[in-house]
Amino acid sequence: MAQIFTTPSSMRQWARQQHGQKRRVGLVPTMGALHLGHMALVREAQRHAERVVVSIFVNPLQFGPQEDLARYPQTPEDDLKLLDEFGVDAVFMPSVEEMYPLGPSLTRVSLERLASVLCGKSRPGHFQGVATVVAKLFHIVEPDTALFGQKDWQQLVIIRRLVADLNFPVEIIGVPTVREANGLAISSRNRYLSPADTSRAASLYRALRGALAAYQSGTRGREEIRRQVADSLSLSGIEAEYVEVVDPRTLEPSPEMLSGQTLVAVAARVGKARLIDNILLGQD
Ligand code: AMP
Repeated sequence: MAQIFTTPSSMRQWARQQHGQKRRVGLVPTMGALHLGHMALVREAQRHAERVVVSIFVNPLQFGPQEDLARYPQTPEDDLKLLDEFGVDAVFMPSVEEMYPLGPSLTRVSLERLASVLCGKSRPGHFQGVATVVAKLFHIVEPDTALFGQKDWQQLVIIRRLVADLNFPVEIIGVPTVREANGLAISSRNRYLSPADTSRAASLYRALRGALAAYQSGTRGREEIRRQVADSLSLSGIEAEYVEVVDPRTLEPSPEMLSGQTLVAVAARVGKARLIDNILLGQD
């Protein structure tokens, strides 16, 4: 059975005990409503550390006033069952009051331009909230390694930069996106989708695969790739919030003629859910 901690001090004490016994500690930060995507992070964590901590915390700081904080799915009993099945050692599930005893933090990690491109355009303050809570989790758990999904590519880039800029002694590992059989990236927010929306949502990845196929058969025009994805989405009745073709490390727009690795990222509203996905071109 996983040990459950609800206060930063008890969590830190346990993690320090593990370190005292020369065990590496891996951290998987989540917002709960756990699924097999999260579990891929857990499995990878277990390959890199002797002890794995999963945090479950729906962080108010990263939700905008019009976003889904109040209805974000919370399934703590199912989560704990799944974590036990996967042999997780500790779960950190603090209340909002434990994490922010003085009220919403006045100290926040800002990320300049990285936080204002892609999803940052429509979610002002989101990545500042993410980076702030991740910095807090790193101070609380003091992990040797922390794992993040490539589904949230911008988040992964931001966390790597946070760690480099602020000298956190944490190794960051990105884990490939886990998908449903129809290609849809698994997400806690997929619960908001009706069955019809679910099959429509699969066209996000289909459009991205189309971009990869075009790239592999020699297309190098950035706009051509971008337009192809946007057209393919609108054929499925999806109007994208954005389709962007960027450098996967800096998130800056790719040159007009693509060279080297390129990330194609999309965000779109499908039914009641805002979904994101991405694909890497030129991986070989
Ligand atoms: P969340 O609970 O949605 O904040 O996600 C917690 C972590 O799990 C983040 O690092 C996500 O990128 C990662 N994650 C969520 N869904 C998937 C997925 N389908 N495949 C891989 N990682 C995922």
